[in-house]
Amino acid sequence: MNVEIVSVPVLRTYNKRFIRSGQILKLMKVRVEKIYCRDLHPCTKNNKPITMPPYSTTTVLDTKQTFECTESMKNVIHSVDNKYSGKHKFLIWEFETTLIWTNIIAITLLHLLTLYAFLIYPYFEKPGLIIYGTILGWMGGFGVTAGAHRYFTHKSYKAKLPLKLMLLFCYTLAGQNSLKDWVRDHRVHHKFSETDADPHNSRRGFFFAHVGWLMMKKHPEVIRKGRQVDCSDLFEDPVFAFHQSFSYKKITHFLWLKLLFCFVLPTIIPPLTWGESWTFTFLAITVTRYTLNLNCTWLVNSAAHLWGNKPYDKGIYPVENLMVSFCAMGEGYHNYHHTFPWDYRTGELSGFLNMTSCLLGIFKRIGWAYDMKTASADLVKKVIENKGDGSHYKWGQEVSEENDNKT
Ligand SMILES: [Zn+2]
Ligand SMILES: [Zn+2]
Repeated sequence: MNVEIVSVPVLRTYNKRFIRSGQILKLMKVRVEKIYCRDLHPCTKNNKPITMPPYSTTTVLDTKQTFECTESMKNVIHSVDNKYSGKHKFLIWEFETTLIWTNIIAITLLHLLTLYAFLIYPYFEKPGLIIYGTILGWMGGFGVTAGAHRYFTHKSYKAKLPLKLMLLFCYTLAGQNSLKDWVRDHRVHHKFSETDADPHNSRRGFFFAHVGWLMMKKHPEVIRKGRQVDCSDLFEDPVFAFHQSFSYKKITHFLWLKLLFCFVLPTIIPPLTWGESWTFTFLAITVTRYTLNLNCTWLVNSAAHLWGNKPYDKGIYPVENLMVSFCAMGEGYHNYHHTFPWDYRTGELSGFLNMTSCLLGIFKRIGWAYDMKTASADLVKKVIENKGDGSHYKWGQEVSEENDNKT
């Protein structure tokens, strides 16, 4: 019998607890003769299955058996007691992920430069520059939250051309991955949250969910499931298609624009207009703003999946985290967002902590944003009562009369 297994990429320091939580395969009452890795696993080059001696559930596997697949990868199959049923055995497939050293070096350098700028520059003596940097930071943040996230990924509202252009401009200014990749990764994240197919699976710990996932090759499941997620709707939009299409030297328009809006223009404006120093502007505005912008976005994948309460659905990982909402312009109401991903507010409330919703409200008023989807109060209340953890500020602890009648 051929058994499909799900692989778990691990670093040497990978925590056993997480390996166990990513439980793989129940052998049940079958005799396993061959294990076929999934198609994208490096071991399946040439589609050769890995053959292992026949086992049955009555056989207790050795703790570790090593299969030489490729020289670069060490593959180990473990048997682990099934803590849940006590009857079956799991097979766990580990492999070491390949680190992406260019990203590791770039991200580390970026943070070291930011730290250096914080330590040596007298920011507070330059209020003009702080305001300039803050406005750029908000613009980049708005491009990510209102543009890449709420508009392009979730289609939670419609935008007229001027707003769409503004969203693309702001997104480009934030200097993140290509919009096409951002949307695909985020759709996969929602569909397969906290599984191997989640690009920043928070079950692999804070660091991995925050930034580690950008420092190593993606899990094969992320690539496999990513191909199944439909993103064809994006290219029907001519503005998006232009943004992602190739230009001179086979580099996308997006990359040229990112270089210009994220790095070149923010650096040259202060020295050329009010005589600010070039190095100070580069370090304090371009580098620091970029680093802070990235971390604010990453917090949504890490902190907002790990630390907070779950008033809307206690059965999922995403949580409500006000600190993340503050940093990420309203994206920290993540338990709500994963419960109602189509709601343009990404949170039940649109107060000052949800700055993106406030700004979208202004664009709605002038007619540039329309058809904004929101979950009705009735639906929200019902979901809170059925699935919430009881921490909702209004309906969390209430037991409605109807519930009483039913019991
Ligand atoms: Zn999430
Ligand atoms: Zn989302």
